[in-house]
Amino acid sequence: MAAWKILVTDGLEENGLKILREAAEVLDRNGISADDLLKEISGVDALIVRGRTKVTAQVLAAGTQLKVVGRAGVGVDNIDLKAARERKIMVVNSPYATTIAVAELAMALMLAMAREIPRADAAMKNGKWLKKELEGVELYRKTLGIIGFGRIGSSVARRAEAFDMKVLCCDPKITEDNQSLYDCRALPLDELLAESDFISLHVPLNNSTRGMINREKFALMKNGVRIVDVSRGGVIDEQALLEALESGKVAAAALDVFSIEPPGQTALVCHPRVLCTPHIGAQTVEAQQRAADDIATEILAALRGEELRWRVV
Ligand code: NAD
Repeated sequence: MAAWKILVTDGLEENGLKILREAAEVLDRNGISADDLLKEISGVDALIVRGRTKVTAQVLAAGTQLKVVGRAGVGVDNIDLKAARERKIMVVNSPYATTIAVAELAMALMLAMAREIPRADAAMKNGKWLKKELEGVELYRKTLGIIGFGRIGSSVARRAEAFDMKVLCCDPKITEDNQSLYDCRALPLDELLAESDFISLHVPLNNSTRGMINREKFALMKNGVRIVDVSRGGVIDEQALLEALESGKVAAAALDVFSIEPPGQTALVCHPRVLCTPHIGAQTVEAQQRAADDIATEILAALRGEELRWRVV
């Protein structure tokens, strides 16, 4: 009989399930309701989620056997970390699995915005040939300001350098060492905002970053700036962004994340100079397989009392 019970509530790629099944009984309950989760969690040794399942203090309290919660992916803002700490329940994630996918999406959005690719495609499908109207801009020699220079932000920097962009970065954790690995210049936020033609956000959502790009910050930016946000909804003040688009301060924005998801057909989503994707940053075959592999091995290591690579709590 399998030693452990592992509950998986937001799906996991088959390669990860296979690793888990070799050592444990796996309850694959993709899309489980919050009520059913409260019932199923008792008697379970480990819980694996993505971003959908809310691992509240109540869920953790109901998990009387629960030893570890795993997040297949990076963001752990859907897990009550304080409650986990209090109950001595470990929390692990797979922070490296999705880095490339998100960085590539940021580059894709930057290029799509610069050349208005969604508008070109939509027009052609409507029988229109907008060749003269569709005059975009190049990334070449433009200044890119990267806010949050961790795994994803620094990966975007490497890719932007290949496009001959001048890269600025801003991160309280930046050091001479990690900055010198890249051909970029670290600046305080306000200076970065004032110098950038493109801005790309790669910070986590926390009290210091919630609403950090607000009216005041938009006022510091260059006229005609283009903004990419693949970080977390809530980092940009969406009303302030809408006003900045309407005033012409912001030429275009590309958003993968929203303060409420899905956001519905809001004025921001429907704005002609806003390009939206439904939080697909980590949605590549490779990233999902990597995340499944990483979280499955990390969860088993936690249950076996082995050394952990990505312990959050
Ligand atoms: P990371 O921890 O490696 O990097 C985040 C960096 O932001 C850190 O270096 C940190 O010091 C910096 N930071 C924190 N507060 C800051 C501030 N006020 N100003 C400037 N920098 C600040 O994380 P990562 O793996 O690079 O991921 C970044 C974020 O991307 C995640 O937190 C998550 O919200 C988001 N993400 C989105 C998707 C998606 O599907 N769109 C997928 C994965 C991750």
